[in-house]
Amino acid sequence: MNLYSLLEKGFPKDKQACALETHDGLYYSWSDLERATAKMANFLKSLKLPAGSRIAAQVEKSPEALFLYLATVKAGYVYLPLNTAYQAAEIQYFIENAEPAVMVCSSKNFSWVSKVAFKAGTMRVFTLDEDRTGTLLERCTNQSDQFKTVPVKDDDLAAILYTSGTTGRSKGAMLTHRNLGSNAQVLQKFWGWKKGDVLLHALPIFHVHGLFVAAHGALINGSKMIWLPRLDTAQLIHHMPNSTVMMGVPTFYVRLLADKGFTKQVTSNMRLFVSGSAPLLTETFNTFKEVIGQPILERYGMSETVMLVSNPYKGSRIGGSVGLPLPGVKVRVVNENNKPCGPNEIGSIQVKGPNIFKGYWRMPEKTAEEFTKDGWFKTGDVGRWGGAANGGTAPKDYLCIVGRSKDLIISGGYNVYPKEIESFIDDMDGVDESAVIGIPHPDFGEAVMAVVVPKKGAKLDPQAMIATLKTQIANFKIPKRLEVVSDLPRNAMGKVQKNILREQYTS
Ligand code: ATP
Ligand code: MG
Repeated sequence: MNLYSLLEKGFPKDKQACALETHDGLYYSWSDLERATAKMANFLKSLKLPAGSRIAAQVEKSPEALFLYLATVKAGYVYLPLNTAYQAAEIQYFIENAEPAVMVCSSKNFSWVSKVAFKAGTMRVFTLDEDRTGTLLERCTNQSDQFKTVPVKDDDLAAILYTSGTTGRSKGAMLTHRNLGSNAQVLQKFWGWKKGDVLLHALPIFHVHGLFVAAHGALINGSKMIWLPRLDTAQLIHHMPNSTVMMGVPTFYVRLLADKGFTKQVTSNMRLFVSGSAPLLTETFNTFKEVIGQPILERYGMSETVMLVSNPYKGSRIGGSVGLPLPGVKVRVVNENNKPCGPNEIGSIQVKGPNIFKGYWRMPEKTAEEFTKDGWFKTGDVGRWGGAANGGTAPKDYLCIVGRSKDLIISGGYNVYPKEIESFIDDMDGVDESAVIGIPHPDFGEAVMAVVVPKKGAKLDPQAMIATLKTQIANFKIPKRLEVVSDLPRNAMGKVQKNILREQYTS
């Protein structure tokens, strides 16, 4: 079934009800959403694109940007969202790699984007701005506001989502109508979406979290979204009394807690706060629970799989654990011989299910490498069932993520998991954040190294910090080198790029 048809089943009967309310006070009804989407779908169809054409978009967040996504899916094409932070060299890679038939960009970027696009053979470049202007909307004005959703096979592509590029070059994850539809249905139930829910949406919509988890969640449930262009704590707090659900990356919660205006009273209408995309510190989880009186629900997923594991909506949510496999999703933790690990044993996380992507775009070898012979997808993350979590022990059906396999350090034959050392360093006075990496060492193969960012105005003493660590953890885990730096390298999604740190300290 076309993903649009599935989402549409959840749209409310009252088409005049509000579907989207924007930060600047605009209201879009469900009828507005359907009509604008149909006009765009008609326009795309009028271009007579071959089946399977990619429609790429690097645009600021706006209701119309969401309609462009819906129109692409409705018309049976493949949506390719691009991070707004990407510059010319990055866009060139994505366009050359994906060869989209249509590129939509902000008018301020038109001159360089169109140059890159034309050079790569993408001849149709339109503009779309957050103030409802641009050539795309001009071309849609005279289109009909009725469009019959194009039938597709479950296995046809709905989107290509490039991974964040945290561990290397971004790969295009091919996601089908079934991948996205099944996950939206599962999450609707698992997170207890109900009538009257209002989603506070402040995430970007070029990523799995904002587009496929948050927006799909509201659409399939026929719920209104309060549509904010970006993370702005004052705006979030302002709209919270009229919202019931919010999804954010850990930074959302850290920033909200730092704001005096964020209180239990402001959140009294909220029933669910979801966190994901990066690990939520247990400190944030605990402070939030203490101040707001409800636990954040942490979940785990990735571009290739949409959502995999989640803390329960009703049962106990455990800080430091990402929770239970979602219904229909199989998760296993295996050792080097691909044999399942026992509770509390660290191994590689592998997954199976209707949500697992079709493969990496034009990378058949990489795709083959990342699946086991019996069809499990290797997530590249390392974890364990149960074990220590948030000062206690997680039950053995709860998954705890330890890190990424590429970041694993093997020093003198021992496995060292950076996150464990980072959490000790982060707990020290004056530390804002840290990254622990492995660097080449003549005797040990790899040596542990810590790169630490101090809190504003704090002075750190590396030798004293190493001495403290020696009283806390085994000797083979102690950093041989500890550097204090002003910030850590991050990719456009805000994730720390350890590969860059490794290169920097290896040379
Ligand atoms: P690339 O694959 O290009 O290196 P990436 O893996 O960061 O980039 P995404 O697909 O955006 O790209 O991110 C998925 C990854 O994010 C997961 O594999 C996992 O490492 C991390 N992640 C997501 N949610 C969580 C979470 N709740 N806790 C810890 N890590 C998480
Ligand atoms: Mg990845």
